[in-house]
Amino acid sequence: MIHIAHWIGGAERAGESGRAGPVFNPATGEQIAQVDLASAAEVAVAVASAKEAAKAWREASLSRRSAVLFTFRELLAARAGELAAIITREHGKVLADAAGEVARGLENVEFATGVPHLMKGGFSEQAATGVDVYSIRQPLGVVAGITPFNFPAMVPLWMCATAIASGNAFVLKPSEKDPSAANWLAALWAEAGLPAGVFTVVHGDKEAVDALLTHPDVAAVSFVGSTPIAKYIYETGTAHGKRVQALGGAKNHMIVLPDAELDAAADAAISAGFGAAGERCMAISVVVAVGEIADPLVEAIAARLSRIKIGDGAEKGVDMGPLISAQHRDKVAGYIAAGADAGAKVIADGRDITDRPGFFLGATLLDEVTREMTVYTDEIFGPVLSVVRVNTYAEAVELVNDNEYGNGTAIFTRDGGAARQFQFEVNAGMVGVNVPIPVPVAYYSFGGWKASLFGDTHMYGPDGIHFFTRSKVVTSRWPDPGTSSIDLGFPQTR
Ligand code: NAD
Repeated sequence: MIHIAHWIGGAERAGESGRAGPVFNPATGEQIAQVDLASAAEVAVAVASAKEAAKAWREASLSRRSAVLFTFRELLAARAGELAAIITREHGKVLADAAGEVARGLENVEFATGVPHLMKGGFSEQAATGVDVYSIRQPLGVVAGITPFNFPAMVPLWMCATAIASGNAFVLKPSEKDPSAANWLAALWAEAGLPAGVFTVVHGDKEAVDALLTHPDVAAVSFVGSTPIAKYIYETGTAHGKRVQALGGAKNHMIVLPDAELDAAADAAISAGFGAAGERCMAISVVVAVGEIADPLVEAIAARLSRIKIGDGAEKGVDMGPLISAQHRDKVAGYIAAGADAGAKVIADGRDITDRPGFFLGATLLDEVTREMTVYTDEIFGPVLSVVRVNTYAEAVELVNDNEYGNGTAIFTRDGGAARQFQFEVNAGMVGVNVPIPVPVAYYSFGGWKASLFGDTHMYGPDGIHFFTRSKVVTSRWPDPGTSSIDLGFPQTR
């Protein structure tokens, strides 16, 4: 049995808490490893090592930091396949999708190589007579990242690239369900020349998370996961004086107007609904069919379902892998049953393949779903696509805006005016126009609205640099000693 240890002080370190958790290959259902679960005392050791490392790392020149990031980028690009295989083995997503995850994470590293430019402040000469004013950005010290199972490499890279580039020491608490990618990244950072302690991994569950949230030396917490936990992280972290950004769950709607290109919309619904078996925070889980397009659209989506090849994500030609665990598979299957009981029309039922080994569930299409059904109200996080039929564009937008979540959304239409109106009035953080999964490129930032984000800064890109640094404004005068005098008045600029 593989044993997955922590990564502290630049090397693997076996857990001492006596607690460990199982790691499965979801495609076979077999336990393949066990991961140490840290106690609060072990988290304290990790934070102390990070604190020591942060002191020296903030003194490293911008070009030295940038050079480490460039080396890390090259190593990651060259060995992306290795990381993708690790992701597939523990998460279950197909290899091509795992490679896609690594590629998007790599873009965050590329963005962060530009840190000398990103850390620039402003300068105002002669703000008052003989007085100059300038702003600088400085790292926070030790910052923590707490990440979900569904992107075991990309989400840690969203956080650590900007956190490390801007001069912090980063402590990662990855998901205990697929923890190996974190250690692989830690070893790669070491190989790239990052000093020991600047990137740390503590594995664990609630106990480790709570220790990070309350530790006085952790200055900021970046979190991605489900909404109830995101809310808890935000409330607990801020109550302990930390800066917190906590990204939560989602229920992403794709509106299809009557003038949309039918095949493109059906292809997009399939890709965005069933990619990664629906275990993406940017997955489309609701198709809102407006007016007369509903019948042909449902037919076109249904016709494509039989083409989805389900199996072990490590095998060639497979489109959709299993879900993360047996419990999660059963929970998703329960939603399908509840939808059917509540009157949704089951066009395709994925429960017919649950008897094979591994945590598989087939692609499910439900039509005539209504707002009250749990299959509509709840984040399902599985391969279940619901179709809600409405009569007008206005009803469609109202549905999206009334929803508890506001992560991503998309509109499919040939009408530029309608698309622009949608962009203007929809309450969501990321919007696609004929693009079903509008994950922003690395030089923008990622984040939703409403129950999809607690805190105000989005993740990675310019917001990432902002989150992991604080600004200081310096007002300076170099007086001519001959003109020095005392003045008890408040500083004036005119
Ligand atoms: P999760 O909330 O169960 O776990 C996320 C992290 O929190 C893990 O590291 C986990 O160990 C920790 N955690 C779990 N329970 C905890 C508790 N009671 N106290 C303290 N820490 C706890 O999420 P998950 O199942 O790993 O991931 C799926 C969820 O993440 C979905 O809801 C999905 O929408 C969301 N997600 C959101 C985004 C986004 O950008 N908004 C991106 C990816 C995933």
